[in-house]
Amino acid sequence: MTGQTAGQGAERPADVSPAATRDDRGDGVTGELTIGVLALQGDVREHLRALVECGVRARSVRRPEELDEVDALIIPGGESTTISKLAIEFGLADPIRKRIGEGMPAYGSCAGMIMLAAEVLDGRPDQESFAGIGMAVRRNAFGRQVDSFEAPVRLDGIDGPAFHAVFIRAPWVERVDRDVQVIGTIEAGPAAGRIVAVRQGNLLATAFHPELTGDLRVHRLFVELVRATR
Ligand code: GLN
Repeated sequence: MTGQTAGQGAERPADVSPAATRDDRGDGVTGELTIGVLALQGDVREHLRALVECGVRARSVRRPEELDEVDALIIPGGESTTISKLAIEFGLADPIRKRIGEGMPAYGSCAGMIMLAAEVLDGRPDQESFAGIGMAVRRNAFGRQVDSFEAPVRLDGIDGPAFHAVFIRAPWVERVDRDVQVIGTIEAGPAAGRIVAVRQGNLLATAFHPELTGDLRVHRLFVELVRATR
């Protein structure tokens, strides 16, 4: 199961290497906000691109000094056990937990949702999260038979048609604290009713990958909530 990353298909690289994203900062974009994308592993480039399309400055974050320079952070899809391991190795796990504790807005997609969960179910014993959202998230919850699938998902607070949501070895949210807002569930099929999108204050998480489908509405919502915190 490990070694597979979000977006790892024939047409996509297995990983986004630091070199591939170093200069991808939204050239020519003069947004007043800088939003970081945690660039240790996963579909970093897709999130950087979505942010630039939303008109904000985007930068990859892989060192604590880079975290200091961003107003908010996106944690990409990928493999949460790897992101956890590298975040510890790169000295980022504690600084990220601290910034989140101080109110830094964060958005996580898929593995990023797992990284934002207070409790991870079916995680590796040594796996850490950045916590933040009062929820229990189950890794790879949809099971091997439906490793990857697409489903329409409507999100509360986002107008327009249902998202064409892409799930890749996705988690679902099994429990939420009272102050966590459930904003999206699977609408039909065997997993109907499963929670796949939540918000708690400045923290947002989706089990699916809007960054892979070019639908910018979740990123726009995140940018709006980042702006609202300043
Ligand atoms: N199964 C992965 C994990 O545990 C998440 C997959 C994804 O981000 N597409 O982190």
